[in-house]
Amino acid sequence: MNAPLRNDLSAFWIPFTSNRRFKADPRLLARAKDMHYETPDGRRLLDGTAGLWCVNAGHSRPKIVEAIQRQAAEMDFAPTFNLAHPLAFEAARRIAALLPGELDHVFFTNSGSESVDTALKIALAYQRARGKGHKTRLIGRERGYHGVNFGGISVGGLPKNRMYFNNLLQVDHLPHTHDLARNAFSRGLPEHGAELADALERIVALHDASTIAAVIVEPMAGSAGVLPPPKGYLERLRAICTKHDILLIFDEVITGFGRVGAPFAAERFGVQPDMICMAKGVTNAAVPMGAVGVSRTIYNTVLEGADAPIELFHGYTYSGHPLACAAALGTLDTYAEDGLFERARALEPHFEAAVHSLKGARHVIDIRNCGLAAAIELEPRPGAATDRAMEVFRACFDQGLLVRATGDILALSPPLIVSEAEIDEIVDRIGQVLAKVA
Ligand code: PLP
Repeated sequence: MNAPLRNDLSAFWIPFTSNRRFKADPRLLARAKDMHYETPDGRRLLDGTAGLWCVNAGHSRPKIVEAIQRQAAEMDFAPTFNLAHPLAFEAARRIAALLPGELDHVFFTNSGSESVDTALKIALAYQRARGKGHKTRLIGRERGYHGVNFGGISVGGLPKNRMYFNNLLQVDHLPHTHDLARNAFSRGLPEHGAELADALERIVALHDASTIAAVIVEPMAGSAGVLPPPKGYLERLRAICTKHDILLIFDEVITGFGRVGAPFAAERFGVQPDMICMAKGVTNAAVPMGAVGVSRTIYNTVLEGADAPIELFHGYTYSGHPLACAAALGTLDTYAEDGLFERARALEPHFEAAVHSLKGARHVIDIRNCGLAAAIELEPRPGAATDRAMEVFRACFDQGLLVRATGDILALSPPLIVSEAEIDEIVDRIGQVLAKVA
């Protein structure tokens, strides 16, 4: 495939990107296999980001490719409104088997953003079904990323994602847990900050628990730059939610499917939420799919408390799309056959040592990690926040490495098939680039 002419780039409004800069200097990907991308002109790139935190099993894995091809030929689409198809039940059953505790029902969506808005709506439907329809307020957290739909940006805590759009929901926010003064260069979960969960008590005192439906957090914040939870923080959040009869939703769109060395972060951190939002790794990103794992208490309450034959007035044309279900089944088989969740956990010490070897490199003010995710935080350029990390991203790209720049942070999240040698290669190349970038 040849690179398109410059003129051909105009129609596509590229998401979360400076369109003017990108179209003046485009970076295109044409092929992918296992740990590598290839550009249209045949240059190979080592994938340090699993695409966008999503290709956990590596690219174009045979079982997933075959499952999609087979399904596309057999049945391209089947509605799931008053109809269904066997693969949707099978995919739900297999996902439920990975979910912790009494989370044993699955609602299908097509993305992380839809999973978040679905979970928020289920929380409201649940409270109403049990006669607590006054519990409508939703609590998020500063620096939280919950996708880009109106529910997600309302509970989300990234200012630019919120400030340009009208905030329609009744929300409040917990403080974020990023604390460079006390926790810089933490390995694994930071020591300090469990007490930040107590801010929920203040929020409850302000609004009253009778108005609050749910709290939603990423167990480890991803898009804000890999913020593992302080030791004891999630346990405290869980205890306060339980005490005040508030649902706890974990947004595991990034942390799900092995990223932190377990099927879900809930299991890794030993904290049980009432719902889990997922997407990305559920199909290894080969077909768009999201899902919400729901506890049987919530499911049963909504079904029993419904005042209409349809218990939940919600769903997408493509909920449980056959191609996505086939991809999910191929993906779950691949994770299991290759032991990838265990592999991520086993590789964590090597990964941790490698990324922390960049301590002392130019501009680096923090490094943090958990599972196969890490952040290297750079000193922002005075008056030009985010420029330095973008320059590192571009320089890495030119030298055959894909990293993710978010704010002034470089985020790493390689596919879980990464080898120790490839981890070293990722870190060496970043070190070389940092030495040169102003
Ligand atoms: N929630 C979290 C925690 C995410 O990291 C993301 C995307 O990165 C989303 C939601 C939104 O997912 P999507 O881009 O598939 O809508």
